Amino acid sequence: MWIDTHSHLDAPEFERNGLFAGLLVAQSAIKNVVMSIIPAVERSNFDTVRQLAHTHAQAYGLGIHPLYVPRAHEDDLTFLGKQLAQHIDDARLIAMGEIGLDFFVPALCTPEIREKQTAFYRAQLKLAKQHQLPVILHVRKSADQLLHALREIGSHGGIAHAFNGSEQQAMQFVEMGFCLGFGGTVTYERSQNIRLLAKSLPAQAIVMETDAPDIPPQWIYATAEERAAGKPQGINSPLELPRIGQLLAELRGVSAEEWAAQTTQNALRVLPKLKALL
Ligand SMILES: [Zn+2]
Repeated sequence: MWIDTHSHLDAPEFERNGLFAGLLVAQSAIKNVVMSIIPAVERSNFDTVRQLAHTHAQAYGLGIHPLYVPRAHEDDLTFLGKQLAQHIDDARLIAMGEIGLDFFVPALCTPEIREKQTAFYRAQLKLAKQHQLPVILHVRKSADQLLHALREIGSHGGIAHAFNGSEQQAMQFVEMGFCLGFGGTVTYERSQNIRLLAKSLPAQAIVMETDAPDIPPQWIYATAEERAAGKPQGINSPLELPRIGQLLAELRGVSAEEWAAQTTQNALRVLPKLKALL
């Protein structure tokens, strides 16, 4: 069985294309994807991800995503703290996320926004620690800064999602109780560095994810030329996870079954509340 450790099932792209969450979850279960973790991105979708997780027997996280930090207010952190206190006994609330730092998107790299991102990240790390929740981290050109705050504030581990840093950075996350999330990017031959990393990291260090609806795997991705010729852009969903997992298993020279079991075990280790849901 597979676990999709990162899937934004509340994203509007799904319903706009007739892909209703209940349908996706049911079809995924047939493909042996038994659980999707739905991270929140900002205050306005906390209720949505909680309801989705409960309606469809999945899991969720609460947090403010770095891409949403520019429009977030200070009191969103207070609200988040109250939400955590109120729902901490909810079995389906299994992590704080998605939180982190993005130093890739130019608009997020002005001195003021960098500072605001860092303040939100640090405040959320403290909340996660206080509530003993693992964290789901957005890492983009920010691994060292994320690691620095983790060392200073401490954490209960978690997942560095869509990981694309160096092997050395990856191992520093692992030493702090994290797994690295791998998904659609490994399906592209040109992703040499990520493929190499996915092949060489210890088996215990990796969890699988789709980041749906983003990062479509190569087989559903339509290039600009193909789109102009009428081929629709495929929408990534948990349904793609087994094929992505199989490809990664092949890269590592193990069977898909073995890789599914290994990565599921890893997910249960870094997200301990998941176990009670399976
Ligand atoms: Zn995400």
